Amino acid sequence: MRNILVIGGGASGMAAALFAARAGANVTLLERNEKLGKKVYITGKGRCNLTNDCALDDFLAEVPRNPRFLYSALSFLSPRDTMELMTENGCPVQVQRGQRVFPQSEKASDVTRALTHALDKAGVRIRLNAGIRSMEIRNGRVQSLLLDSGETLGADAVILCTGGYSYPSTGSTGDGYRFAAQAGHTVTPPSPVLVGMETKEDWPRSLQGLSLKNVTLTLSRGKKTLYSNLGEMLFTHFGISGPLVLEGSCHLPDPPEGVSITIDLKPGLTESQLDARLLRDFAAAGKKQLRTELSSLLPARLADQFPALCGLSAALSCSQITQAQRAALVAVLKALPISLRCPRPVEEAVVTRGGVSVREINPGSMASKIIPNLYFAGEIIDVDAHTGGFNLQIAWSTGALAGHSAATEET
Ligand SMILES: Cc1cc2nc3c(=O)[nH]c(=O)nc-3n(C[C@H](O)[C@H](O)[C@H](O)COP(=O)(O)OP(=O)(O)OC[C@H]3O[C@@H](n4cnc5c(N)ncnc54)[C@H](O)[C@@H]3O)c2cc1C
Repeated sequence: MRNILVIGGGASGMAAALFAARAGANVTLLERNEKLGKKVYITGKGRCNLTNDCALDDFLAEVPRNPRFLYSALSFLSPRDTMELMTENGCPVQVQRGQRVFPQSEKASDVTRALTHALDKAGVRIRLNAGIRSMEIRNGRVQSLLLDSGETLGADAVILCTGGYSYPSTGSTGDGYRFAAQAGHTVTPPSPVLVGMETKEDWPRSLQGLSLKNVTLTLSRGKKTLYSNLGEMLFTHFGISGPLVLEGSCHLPDPPEGVSITIDLKPGLTESQLDARLLRDFAAAGKKQLRTELSSLLPARLADQFPALCGLSAALSCSQITQAQRAALVAVLKALPISLRCPRPVEEAVVTRGGVSVREINPGSMASKIIPNLYFAGEIIDVDAHTGGFNLQIAWSTGALAGHSAATEET
């Protein structure tokens, strides 16, 4: 019976241990925290958007980098398989808007409870408070693991499921990157994605708490559009956040120098339609202040600031507005510019971009191409996806495939 050690009891580690045990291996799951799935617990604001009930091609379209690497893993354990796995272990699921899948109870803790139940049933040995300090590699193979306690554990195969750098209080402190680098792997430098953006201007901060719905956010560098999508965004104490901004952050270059942000506040109207509307509204408004009139077009707090953003006085009356001033209003309504200072730090990111290079991992098994009895799963690998349940599904799928392969492959 093969002896398999899984490092990290997060989403990918639980899946890896389960599928390795189901394939007949003797499995020990090692987690440094006092409980499993500390990060799973905070996912989806405590509701855990555990997967996305979509077809494979639609799934891959939500993965900005290295999507083809995931083909075998997602075929091995698909979103539907995950939904079944949860349901048969006591966590029935529901599909919500955008095919997002949540536990019926809307409690993330039920996801970990279901998996813990499955792990117990499969005979996995779970060791909590078991941090791993280092891996001993000799003769081109992982021989053993050294625990923080000083104990040494030998293994036929090791699966690295230590996650990324984000939210380090959940235990994901990037240890796995160090272990992988020591094993000779290339680690693409980690950076934050699915994260808010700090702005150079102060005015977005003064609108903290204001959310804009049905706007188009565009990120570009020079003439190249990096990202453009319609949806919802939010002004915060540091700049901008919300679904569009988080998704847009996946498309920022690293470093993000020279990126410009624009918001189309009226994506349903062309410039000429908007100009005609302003002309009509201003004629009807007469001596009304521009700021007051704009609040029929924009949220009041933004309307207050808007004339200044167009280089106009807020006290201007509608009847005074010239054609050139109207053109300036239209231009900013269609492309409100914001300057990016930087993304928020990786500690605050939902996901870490970068990690172990996919070129050095066999996509059909998740085995290292350098150390044959070493496997990888989850966020430690250089793949990341948009929000919607895709990142957890990547963790479940790569974990399941790594576990099954480690248990069944001759290494
Ligand atoms: C706030 C937030 C909300 C999110 N919401 C969603 C969502 O709703 N849907 C979604 O799809 N994704 C979501 N994600 C992303 C998702 O949680 C991650 O992509 C996923 O958890 C990655 O799984 P993982 O197993 O690779 O890593 P992790 O879940 O980070 O697990 C890694 C584990 O390894 C352990 N570990 C690390 N080093 C060691 C060591 N040296 N020894 C022993 N153990 C170690 C850690 O303690 C940790 O438990 C969210 C992330 C955050 C931060």
